[in-house]
Amino acid sequence: MIDLSISFLSKFPPYFRAMFEDKNPQRTPISSLGEFGLIDLLTENIKLKNPSTLTGIGDDAAVMDPGENVVLTSTDMLIEGIHFDLSYVPLKHLGYKAAVVNFSDIYAMNGKPTQLYVALAASNRFPVEALEEIYVGIRMACQVYGVDLAGGDTTASNSGLVLSLTANGLAKKEDVVYRKGAKATDLIVMSGDIGGAYMGLQVLEREKQVFLVNPNMQPELQGNEYVLERQLKPEARKDIPELLAALGTKPTAMIDISDGLSSEILHLCKNSNVGCRIYEERIPIDPTVYNLCEEFKMNSTTVALNGGEDYELLFTIPIEDHDKIKHNPSLTVIGHITKAEEGAYLITRAEQAIELTARGWNGLDESEGEEK
Ligand code: ADP
Ligand code: MG
Repeated sequence: MIDLSISFLSKFPPYFRAMFEDKNPQRTPISSLGEFGLIDLLTENIKLKNPSTLTGIGDDAAVMDPGENVVLTSTDMLIEGIHFDLSYVPLKHLGYKAAVVNFSDIYAMNGKPTQLYVALAASNRFPVEALEEIYVGIRMACQVYGVDLAGGDTTASNSGLVLSLTANGLAKKEDVVYRKGAKATDLIVMSGDIGGAYMGLQVLEREKQVFLVNPNMQPELQGNEYVLERQLKPEARKDIPELLAALGTKPTAMIDISDGLSSEILHLCKNSNVGCRIYEERIPIDPTVYNLCEEFKMNSTTVALNGGEDYELLFTIPIEDHDKIKHNPSLTVIGHITKAEEGAYLITRAEQAIELTARGWNGLDESEGEEK
């Protein structure tokens, strides 16, 4: 098994440097292999697991047999300096996360991811070993989620690294869950907890600043494993569609929480033409996230609403199904759907109704950074 646990970071001090330069003394220029040699190296020994993958890498196009199913497709593009910072994101983790966020989109449609395609562009700053690291993460994610790496494209870039991943998935047509479909009185439910990935990013940014001032300082990551893992190695909620099926309920609408709870709820409401009430006291936040919010003097509700990158699933179910889910430790009812005219509101602990906005809630943005 490849070690993708957070603890492995501490084995490679100093941590805050372009990771591959420090860890990997070998720096083979991409040009020495050429495009085809590189593709062969990155994709060697891939064994196809899904019967729907008739042909994977090695022909002009992959061949997929959806059988009785419909095909779900999702793409995500990641640009160095915009979506990731290689001074603290290990390449292995970058590959893992780039794959997992695509799988998350397929689960959010109530499907099962089956194939992954990887397009990458890298400048000559990246040795072959760096790309191999990324592929260790990508292949690990494919193994964990049972997905076939079925193709891609490889090219040079003038500067930096660009990764564009596309996942295909399958679902029975009648099982697909869209963003539309939520009805007034439906319950709003989410898996897991939120805010962790954002606080993990805050810790990494803080330690980067410390490192820039004094490169001999070792980053203080201990005690923050949970949020660092949420940021650097998120998991897609593969278990939730299975759990809901086992509990005998089907979401009326679903979305994954990639951009923050507030904007995702608004997407559901807009697509379903409904309103909502969510309750501040119901939002599931891990105790370590509360503690870090205190340390960083941030409002934990703002972090939960705006943070993003937690990749939990947010969905609505008919109120009649409440009994089926109410005691499940993986699920939290955070509110309910209303008619569109009633708007989209957060009800605070003080029972104040505050309109939700794509960036959190009106009135709190100004107080960001103030202690609660
Ligand atoms: P073409 O020129 O026909 O587009 P390529 O030479 O780019 O084909 O790719 C050859 C094969 O390798 C194809 O099956 C393609 O899907 C696969 N491939 C290319 N780059 C990657 C990559 N970065 N990751 C995975 N598969 C790749
Ligand atoms: Mg090509």
